[in-house]
Amino acid sequence: MKIEVIKFGGSSVADANKIKHVANIIKEKANNNVKVVVVVSAMGGSTDKLIALANEVSQEPNPRELDVLLSTGEIVTSTLLSMQLNTISIQSISLTGIQAGIRTDDAYGRARISEINTGRIIKELKNKDVVVIAGFQGFSDEQDVTTLGRGGSDTTAVALAVALKADTCEIYTDVSGVYTADPRLCNKARPLTQIGYEEMLEMATTGAKVIHSRAVEVAAINHMPLIVKNTFELLQKGTIIQSESNMENINKVRGIAHQNQVGKITIKGVPDKPGIASSVFQPLAEANIPVDTIVQNSSTENLTDLTFTVANEDLKKAIKVSEKTVKTIGAADLNSTNEVGSVSIIGTGMTSSPGYAARMFQTLFTKKVNIEIISTSEIRITCVVHKDSVKTAINALHDAFELDVE
Ligand code: ASP
Ligand code: MG
Repeated sequence: MKIEVIKFGGSSVADANKIKHVANIIKEKANNNVKVVVVVSAMGGSTDKLIALANEVSQEPNPRELDVLLSTGEIVTSTLLSMQLNTISIQSISLTGIQAGIRTDDAYGRARISEINTGRIIKELKNKDVVVIAGFQGFSDEQDVTTLGRGGSDTTAVALAVALKADTCEIYTDVSGVYTADPRLCNKARPLTQIGYEEMLEMATTGAKVIHSRAVEVAAINHMPLIVKNTFELLQKGTIIQSESNMENINKVRGIAHQNQVGKITIKGVPDKPGIASSVFQPLAEANIPVDTIVQNSSTENLTDLTFTVANEDLKKAIKVSEKTVKTIGAADLNSTNEVGSVSIIGTGMTSSPGYAARMFQTLFTKKVNIEIISTSEIRITCVVHKDSVKTAINALHDAFELDVE
C-alpha cells in the first residue's frame, strides 16, 4: 500500500471554497492509486480567535482546558474536508489526534510527540482512499488532549510521514516554497528549488515562517524529504528540503531570513565574575523565555555590559525578570528597546570560506545601515539593526550575494 502524507496550512483551508479546492487536489492523488493521509491546520485565523475567547473568560486559562479548546480548530477543518471528499466520491474519514494514535508528553501548549500508533490509520486505509487527521494535537498518558505549540501541524505531518514510512511529506501553503528572502519585502526574491535541513532550520529559527522549525528537526533526524508547495499555484514546483549530500552548489549564501522587530535588553555595569551570566540567564530560562543573540563586552574595571535579544512578544516579561536580576547581582541598570530587527544570511560552508562576513558588513555600510549586534553560527551570520533598516538590508544583501540567480 503506497501512502502519501500531505499537509494543508490554515490559509489553504480558510473557507468552504478553499476546502473544496483542497479536496480536488487530494482527489487527483487518490485517483492515482495511492492512499492519502492528509493533515490539516485550523481554518486561517481560528486558533487566534479561540485564544482570544479563552482570554475573555480567564487571564490565565487553565492549560489543560486551553489545549482541548485549541484542538477543536483542527477538528473543524478535518471534518469539513472529509465531508467534501465524500461529496466528490472519495472515500474518506476524519480522525482527531487521539484517534490517530498520536501520543505526546503532558506539556500542555508545547507537547512533544513521543510515539504514533498507526494501527487505526492503517485499518481505515484498507477500505478508504483518504484519512484526514486533525493536526497540532495528540494525547498524554492520562488520555488528555495536548497541543504541540503554534504552527505544530507541520510537525504532526512530518511525524506521520515518518511513522507511515512515506517517501516524502508535502506541505501545502500559500506561498510557492521557501524563498531566498521574504517576497513581501524583496521583490527579487525567488523560490529555491532545494535547501538543506540545516539551512532550513537556521532560516526557520531566524525568522522564515514558511515551516515550523520542529517539523524540520523531525525531518532531518529521520531523513524525510519535505516538499513545500503552493495550494493555489499547483504548477509551481515548490521547494524540496532534504539532506545536503544530495545537493550541489553548497558553498554559497542560500537565503536571507529576517525578524522585523525583536526585543533587546542591555544590562549595564555587571560585576565581571564567575557565575554572572548564569545569574542573568537562569531566571529567563525558568520563566520560559528563549534568548536569542547574546553579547558580553570585555570588561573595564571589572564591570561589563551584557546585551541580548528576545522575541518581541517576550520583551515585557523579560524586562520584568531582568529588573529583579539587576538588583540581585548589583548591576548598574537596564535599558531596553523593541526598535530593532535582525537580518541573517544563511548558507552551508559559509563561515569556513572567508569573505562572507566582510561582504555582509561592507554591503550594510554602503547602505548606511548601522549594525548593533553580530552573531554567527557555522552556516549563518546575523546582524541586529534598527527595525527601519531591515528592508533596506535585505534588498542590499540579496543583490550583493546574487540571490536572484540560481
Ligand atoms: N492552528 C495552529 C496554529 O495556528 C497550528 C497550525 O496551524 O499548525 O498555530
Ligand atoms: Mg502553519
